[in-house]
Amino acid sequence: MKDRMSELVALLNRYAYEYYTSDAPSVSDSDYDQLYRELVQLEATYPQDILPDSPTHRVGGKVLEGFEKYQHQYPLYSLQDAFSRQELEDFDRRVRKDFPHLSYLCELKIDGLSISLTYENGVLVAGATRGDGSVGENITENLKRVKDIPLTLAETSNLTVRGECYMPRSSFEAVNRYRQEQGEAEFANPRNAAAGTLRQLDTGVVAQRNLATFLYQVASPSSEESQEGVLEHLTSLGFQVNDRYILAQSMDQVWDFIQEIEALRPQLPYDIDGIVIKVNDLAIQEELGFTVKAPKWAIAYKFPAEEKEAQLLSVDWTVGRTGVVTPTANLTPVQLAGTRVSRATLHNVDYIAEKDIRMQDTVIVYKAGDIIPAVLRVVESKRVSQEKLSIPKTCPSCQEELIHFEDEVALRCINPLCPAQIKEGLTHFASRDAMNITGLGPAVVEKLFAQNLVKDVAGIYRLTPDDLLQLEGFKEKSASKLYQAIQASKENSAERLLFGLGIRHVGSKASRILLEKFHDIEKLAQAKPEEIAAIDSLGLVIAESLATYFSQEGSKILLAELVEAGVNLAYLGEKVAEDALLSGKTLVLTGKLENLTRAQAKEKLQSLGANVASSVSKKTDIVIAGADAGSKLSKAQELGLEIRDEAWLESL
Ligand code: NAD
Repeated sequence: MKDRMSELVALLNRYAYEYYTSDAPSVSDSDYDQLYRELVQLEATYPQDILPDSPTHRVGGKVLEGFEKYQHQYPLYSLQDAFSRQELEDFDRRVRKDFPHLSYLCELKIDGLSISLTYENGVLVAGATRGDGSVGENITENLKRVKDIPLTLAETSNLTVRGECYMPRSSFEAVNRYRQEQGEAEFANPRNAAAGTLRQLDTGVVAQRNLATFLYQVASPSSEESQEGVLEHLTSLGFQVNDRYILAQSMDQVWDFIQEIEALRPQLPYDIDGIVIKVNDLAIQEELGFTVKAPKWAIAYKFPAEEKEAQLLSVDWTVGRTGVVTPTANLTPVQLAGTRVSRATLHNVDYIAEKDIRMQDTVIVYKAGDIIPAVLRVVESKRVSQEKLSIPKTCPSCQEELIHFEDEVALRCINPLCPAQIKEGLTHFASRDAMNITGLGPAVVEKLFAQNLVKDVAGIYRLTPDDLLQLEGFKEKSASKLYQAIQASKENSAERLLFGLGIRHVGSKASRILLEKFHDIEKLAQAKPEEIAAIDSLGLVIAESLATYFSQEGSKILLAELVEAGVNLAYLGEKVAEDALLSGKTLVLTGKLENLTRAQAKEKLQSLGANVASSVSKKTDIVIAGADAGSKLSKAQELGLEIRDEAWLESL
């Protein structure tokens, strides 16, 4: 047993290092949790053999070299966890023994990383990671670039607050798409992406990656009496607080909440890995106290892993817009997180080699929320064939030889005339964040090329309704609709066009920043790289990439053709913002909306200039209440705020 225990300690410590310090886990969280539980059980049976470096007695990981260490004034803890209702009942029994009448505050367990923020006289002076709980990394400058963290508070108090910094799923997908196109290794999940981003030495990268936060604790002495009061106080100070929490009187209510949130999990715009159940009364919390590692007054219920075994049948290789060739596995279908999955990404050639993935292997597929399924690893004990996957030598689209650059994890086709790249480029040009041409998706692009109707992006502006009528499945109405959408896109503000051109390193956010400064693509084309590199949150890489792009003869011809077709090259963004109906107003959404999802409603409000907050306070201007609105509506009524409904929102 002693041997197994030291083996587990060594293994778990290695995994913890990979997870916390390198941000590159090599096993899934559920594998880690299983080994951890085995160790906990062995340590309970053989307490005399507990090793001093056992992970059950320590919080988190080591501090990364390269960052200044940060000594926490108030320690940070981990959480005890539960994987079944039975374990929750056991917890309930333990805490109710001395406090039979307590209630629980149940919060979402956000899958990001712990942060600690310290304010002096209401001004942010320090931000740090959890580290080993007593010493973390000083990441103040990076945290200042996370937009929802207030730099100054609504009160001039001294306080230390705690919460989770996370990467929203939409940002994660965008970051990984970009990394894939650049031939860089993708992040395994939003948590790793957030951790990797916060440990960037370049603060500009942090600003670009759209991290967000939810705060849940005041670590310094506080006058609040309950966890619910703490959340309300944090909200009134200007922090983001996740508003999907409930106060539960019994484990039955806790369990109902767990079921409800688990069902909702795939639709949430951020990853969660469970529910945290906390004794609500802070005086009782204090009496219950802490173990070496975690508070005794809280427990984290962890959702079951979203992983399944499937068999690898074949591999498709596809060429992306920038020539990166990506492998996708075809699998025996499995039901995963509510959907049927038969394809999963294998990321890149280096990943296949590193994981030693072979033909017909049984593999573990996983899917977090609505993110594309991926192959996590091979179940070697079930290997049936030694046959390695065949890696293509030539481009599946143009048959030119593929290149594997030394500093890249991917294969690349470098033929600028490769049809697959041009088609992908056009699909990107028409996509929602670029020119937003509804109806011009990959299938229609394919048909346009097949009929030889376009050769590049400028070609779509030369299409006539009659041309479109030639496309298979198109009738008068559909042809005219697409024609109108193409024509309408000419009036877009120019940041859409700039992003649509697909210039390396120039994402939609950078495009907007560039045009806010230069107002016009023609002026931007003439800007000196130093002028661009000097813009806060951009940098030399973007500046050089733009200079290369605009110096090419092909780009000059393309821009001239777009101008000739009447496509707008000027930035119109500011005008929209100034006129925006809800500019400068703070709105809160509550209750169920009928026609819009929360995300759609939020997007609409933001497009009208509103700031959308998660909870109601004196600073709120308008509350939009849907069906079954609860405490937020009552609070809004108490405060005498303006209350509107969904119909009003739609009428704007
Ligand atoms: P944890 O992540 O299970 O729980 C504690 C953390 O939850 C807190 O530090 C806080 O950051 C976070 N949290 C999120 N929402 C919260 C809320 N509303 N209230 C309070 N806290 C909230 O514990 P841990 O010690 O950080 O990590 C252990 C877990 O990490 C393991 O169970 C495993 O899933 C994972 N892990 C995985 C590997 C791997 O190799 N895959 C290695 C080590 C750890």
